[in-house]
Amino acid sequence: EADADYLVSRVRTIRDFPKQGILFRDFMPIFADAKAFGLLMDALIDALPVPAEEIDMIAGLEARGFLFGPALANRLGKGFIAVRKAGKLPPPTKQASYSLEYGTAEIEVEDNLIEEGKRVLIVDDLIATGGSAQAARDLIEQCGGTVAGFSFVMELVGLDGVKKLGDYPVESLMKMP
Ligand code: IMP
Repeated sequence: EADADYLVSRVRTIRDFPKQGILFRDFMPIFADAKAFGLLMDALIDALPVPAEEIDMIAGLEARGFLFGPALANRLGKGFIAVRKAGKLPPPTKQASYSLEYGTAEIEVEDNLIEEGKRVLIVDDLIATGGSAQAARDLIEQCGGTVAGFSFVMELVGLDGVKKLGDYPVESLMKMP
């Protein structure tokens, strides 16, 4: 309980960033603090949505999924897949797109990093509408992987992002209105 409070106390909340009306949750102070970073890793491992034996690889979403996804993969003895914004990875790649408030966004992974049927845990810092996690799910499956579940540091409840993901195991360490 004290550990959970400590972790939550390291999240900074900023009004009207990056634009008016957005309440931005900043996780950087967690990574800057060795104790909080360790607690975060322990908490993610304690709250895996499926047992570690049922996960073959971890996929992290750019950019903040890259801050702890590789550390989590390494702690669990798994490989890591970078799900990047389109245009940054060399070919061959596979893509998926999803809609934003204005326009669409594309994400990409390198081909041939996921063997057919490998079970992939998708991780990101925060789930809001669920659009990016849903696109990552489609992309991993398009690559031949099986999505084992999702881990988030924070879930903005009320936006129903988790519902959008469908019938997959999901864990979020912190739930915020
Ligand atoms: P969604 O696609 O609407 O679920 O938005 C989730 C994505 O937006 C994640 O990749 C987050 O990193 C990012 N995001 C949205 N709001 C915040 C925030 O308050 N803090 C940090 N990242 C955020």
